[in-house]
Amino acid sequence: MTTHRELKQAIIDACLKLEALGYIIGTYGNASARVPEGLIVTPSRVNYTELTPEDMVTVSPEGEVLDGQRLPSSETSVHRLILNARSDVGAVFHTHSLYATSLSCLHQTIPVIVEEQSQVIGAEIRCAAYVPAGQHLALGETVAKTLGTSNAVMLANHGVVACGRDIPDALFAAQVAERVAYMYLSTSAVGKPVPIPQEHVESERHRWLYKYGTAADRTTGS
Ligand SMILES: [Zn+2]
Repeated sequence: MTTHRELKQAIIDACLKLEALGYIIGTYGNASARVPEGLIVTPSRVNYTELTPEDMVTVSPEGEVLDGQRLPSSETSVHRLILNARSDVGAVFHTHSLYATSLSCLHQTIPVIVEEQSQVIGAEIRCAAYVPAGQHLALGETVAKTLGTSNAVMLANHGVVACGRDIPDALFAAQVAERVAYMYLSTSAVGKPVPIPQEHVESERHRWLYKYGTAADRTTGS
């Protein structure tokens, strides 16, 4: 079983990967993972390269700080309200990745345009209405509501949130969301990308979650 310390280090390692990918710069972005008493979240205003497990903060589902010396991320409500709303989610990443953040300025929904989106995001990527900086609870409420059952949502004029069953899953969702945003932008420049029919989005998501790479996948005939 993973200890809290191991989980904190895994969050830090994931943040360093996101920084290496250019998805977060400076102290932008934040990350969290579910624990039995609530969530562990990155602290406010600490550079990722300086983060240690001791800097991480444990917060209750109601938003109360349970453990940690630092202030939790100012966007903790986004993480907390998604984890409260989605029992299938175990980790959440908020980044300012370039293409997804660019698209967030258009306040549009990205339909499901590519199979990896069906598999990993499982739905369209909506854009949560703009919430002025500093209105943290309102931002969390809007983002969690707009996310719905998808694993990614854009924050208007701000960035993107991706989530998954665990840290590797959520990290992969952040990467796929950014790839999808790039594909949507680039294909929209030369035409109108054709969405995948909803029934196939659902069947591919189900195959990815429960059958992919197993013997069951070879007997479906698809
Ligand atoms: Zn942000």
